[in-house]
Amino acid sequence: MNTVIQQWNDETLEELQHIYKQIDIVCEQNQAKVLDAYQAESISSYHLNGSDGYGYDDEGRDALGRVYARIFGTEAAIVRPQFVSGTHAITAALFGNLRPGDELVYASGEPYATMKEVVGLNGDQAGNFKQYGMTTKVVPLDDTGRVDVALVNDTITAKTKWVVLQRSCGYDDRPSISIEEMKYQIQSIKARHGHVHIFVDNCYGEFAEELEPGHIGADLLAGSLIKNPGGGITKTGGYIAGKESFVVQASARLAAPGIGMEAGATGAFLQDAYHGLFIAPTVVADAIKGAHYTASMLEKAGYETTPSSTTRRTDLIQAVQFGNAEDMISFCQSIQHHSPIDAKATPIPGPLPGYDGDVIMAAGTFVLGASIELSADGPVAPPYTAYVQGGLTFAHCKVAIRRALQSMID
Ligand SMILES: *Cc1c(COP(=O)(O)O)cnc(C)c1O
Repeated sequence: MNTVIQQWNDETLEELQHIYKQIDIVCEQNQAKVLDAYQAESISSYHLNGSDGYGYDDEGRDALGRVYARIFGTEAAIVRPQFVSGTHAITAALFGNLRPGDELVYASGEPYATMKEVVGLNGDQAGNFKQYGMTTKVVPLDDTGRVDVALVNDTITAKTKWVVLQRSCGYDDRPSISIEEMKYQIQSIKARHGHVHIFVDNCYGEFAEELEPGHIGADLLAGSLIKNPGGGITKTGGYIAGKESFVVQASARLAAPGIGMEAGATGAFLQDAYHGLFIAPTVVADAIKGAHYTASMLEKAGYETTPSSTTRRTDLIQAVQFGNAEDMISFCQSIQHHSPIDAKATPIPGPLPGYDGDVIMAAGTFVLGASIELSADGPVAPPYTAYVQGGLTFAHCKVAIRRALQSMID
């Protein structure tokens, strides 16, 4: 290894010691929570066998829902391979619980790109919220990029049925919402408006902290199984957790009214879903250690990072501002070249729907598009920000980042 990179590595590991200790504590608490849930539900080997056909009486599937509910602090949950993605799970949750004439208030600023299409804030996709007579108001963030609770409270009307908090910044330039902040936001919205319910887009947030939105008053939450809670093992799917009546309403949208939670074959899904969930606290802890490491190493190389290397995390996303196209492209290509799969591929910037300029995407993953695995992407335009996320093991994050820096120096 180049001696400068070796020195940055040693300094980084020294400087992040306290943070890594804290991450280990959260990891153990979450591991205990997961273990306790499996024990409380008496998960046995027969729960790992899936069902076919209609999937009636699938005990493994139903127990998995109860395990998720325990872990996420909710009454019920539905965890299924039929959810195509996080966007699909969130969409089923919202469509299931709103009716024509209802209003949705996005309290955390602009929604994640795919959700803008769902609610009808971007284009006019067939079947979006607008076409069903449901409206969405987006409340701008305050000038520190945080939820403006007073403005949210003033925006809510008698027509507002649900308020959405998106925990992770996604690809937006704002801080993600910590559980502590979210607790205050939920309390203050509910204190002022007894009639509204709170939905949390929990994507990228699971197991990052000791508590989940369900523990602090969220009524419904959803996420993707090819992100945190799948532990890098689960091949597809999503989950919705929350108050039982709301989960039932959502399940009628996933399946059909009258079928709801009672059917849905699981095939080979359950073994991976239980296995992945069990190791998810460790995989998430490793990915978060990798995010701090990435930030620190790139700060030492002179780049700007958000969050900074020493900021406490509530999700996996690490943004790095490269300031020029050359460095950004070189970094992303190196991440690809030091991935376990498709390492010989070289990503090049190209157009992507929903983006103005060219986008570069580096991901050499076992599961297609799994962002719990190490990946780097972003629009190749000023300020040349790459979003780096995931990493199945901290060791892989360290090796890949060091090698990426090495090729940038070369
Ligand atoms: C990933 C993500 C989603 C859903 O994305 P999918 O690719 O559909 O799984 C929604 N919101 C946020 C904040 C996300 O990070």
